[in-house]
Amino acid sequence: MNNKGLLIVLSGFSGAGKGTVVKSLLSNHNTEYCLSISATTRNPRPGEENGREYFFKSVKEFESMIDNNELIEYAKYVNNYYGTPKAYVESQLEAGKNVILEIEIQGALNIKKIYPEAVLIFITPPSAKELENRLRGRNTEDEATILARLSRAYDESEGLSNYDYVVINDKVEDCVERIVGIVSSEKMKINNNIELINKVREELKAYSKGEQ
Ligand code: 5GP
Repeated sequence: MNNKGLLIVLSGFSGAGKGTVVKSLLSNHNTEYCLSISATTRNPRPGEENGREYFFKSVKEFESMIDNNELIEYAKYVNNYYGTPKAYVESQLEAGKNVILEIEIQGALNIKKIYPEAVLIFITPPSAKELENRLRGRNTEDEATILARLSRAYDESEGLSNYDYVVINDKVEDCVERIVGIVSSEKMKINNNIELINKVREELKAYSKGEQ
């Protein structure tokens, strides 16, 4: 089997519950999966810590990361920059970990261009009303931001056909198991196992006609 990890992009409308799904995935499968921590210029929410949820940066610091080519991708989302630091992702993939990027759609599409083997998974709540309820229930954004995020969700829904999979987040544990199932199938894809196939073919050569 291919020893390199798989790059997994998880997107979903703001409020779809991605954060909870990712936490549960990591706590139940921490030896195989890790999470890339993004840089952002948005302010920390109550309870968030620098280096845990995000690396919180000023606009100037973020722009210098762009200039120094330290990000694999970045995007502007509702007036703030968000980007994926390159060094961590590449070292973890090399070490065989499946690396999760929890990023929005523009970033996801950029990742697919750079890493065509990346798996793009979109997490959605069962309905729009449920999305609104979850966003309001979080109590972390003001009304204008909630409305901006719902409007952004509508725009994002247009780009869904670019994803490889859609997973409904009705119950967190079920959603996690669906994702784990997708990843395990992806790892068995022929294209992800060329080395193994070549090795078996090489071994079989000895049995081919005329060589015994
Ligand atoms: P939030 O402010 O709710 O934490 O994140 C807003 C959006 O930015 C979410 O859709 C989240 O997935 C996305 N996001 C977080 N980090 C990154 C990143 O590194 N790159 C991109 N393109 N989007 C990100």
